[in-house]
Amino acid sequence: MIDLKNILDFDINELRNWMKENGEKEFRAKQIFDWIYKDCFEFDQMRNLPESLRKKLKEKLYVGIPEVVEKYKSRDGDTNKFLFRYMDGNIIETVVMHYKHGNSICVSTQFGCRMGCSFCASTVNGMVRNMTCGEILGQILAARKEIGERISNIVLMGTGEPLDNFENVLKFIDLTNADYGFNIGQRHITLSTCGLVPQIKKLADMNYQITLAVSLHAPNDKIRIEMMPIANKYPINEILDACRYYIDKTNRRITFEYALIKGKNNSPENAAELADILKGMLCHVNLIPVNTVVENGFSKPSPEEVNTFCGLLAKRGIETTVRREMGSDINAACGQLRRSYLKDQRSD
Ligand code: SF4
Repeated sequence: MIDLKNILDFDINELRNWMKENGEKEFRAKQIFDWIYKDCFEFDQMRNLPESLRKKLKEKLYVGIPEVVEKYKSRDGDTNKFLFRYMDGNIIETVVMHYKHGNSICVSTQFGCRMGCSFCASTVNGMVRNMTCGEILGQILAARKEIGERISNIVLMGTGEPLDNFENVLKFIDLTNADYGFNIGQRHITLSTCGLVPQIKKLADMNYQITLAVSLHAPNDKIRIEMMPIANKYPINEILDACRYYIDKTNRRITFEYALIKGKNNSPENAAELADILKGMLCHVNLIPVNTVVENGFSKPSPEEVNTFCGLLAKRGIETTVRREMGSDINAACGQLRRSYLKDQRSD
């Protein structure tokens, strides 16, 4: 069987080159992308292409839209969650959240994750492989077709550590940014990392205008190591230095994600320590009352405890928000749906 290539992995120049190499006119590349971004994923339905080109395309390329395995809508209707299956059988989950300012999609970047964060269901079975840029992009095309609405913001915060899949993720950002594609501005894209220091610096040097969200989750290395094995490699002071470098280079405010876990990192002393280490930085703290994951026994602090923590940071001049809980009735927290699906498959 010929190894078909996913056309979504191509940018416009690569597709133009493909046309040239295959004896076709370069302008066909733009026509094909026009169809794909209008949700037409079958070469046979691209009516302005000659029959001979459609045949050639089918012989060598495919439009890598993942198949919907399961889909859920939250009771309030604001969250849609999809389990998608790719050609090789790998499964990921994608969430679309409806806000007043538009639809925001949370995409996965790897099949599984090797970072091992103790509060996260995505990592329980380790990592299978990186997703290609086209596979990451396929989530947006598939989800948009399902909901029938425009997507205006992208969050790279699903399964996987985006900076552990650096080249594919950067190309994905370029593709979503492109005027022949979704045309989503970089400022509408947020990349979340568990704190891979060399990659944060590398990203800073590339001068993208995306928002960087760093999963800090602890005010000191002692607690962080218990939650995130990556903390053994990169201590908090190195991460914060990399973040300052990022701010200097890009002039962008950093978001620090902080999953509040009852009895672990939510004491008033933890809040004071967090305020100390972030003092004077162009940053913002996003508190996330953690969703309970059965495997690790973590539980969610009470709303009063969350408010106290938030208030203590605010008093110290740290801009802080509490993430609005969305879709908890459909397992919307990172990796939970994929995890329960894989578990069900194994027990069949
Ligand atoms: S929180 Fe992110 S980096 Fe950590 S294991 Fe989960 S997917 Fe990986």
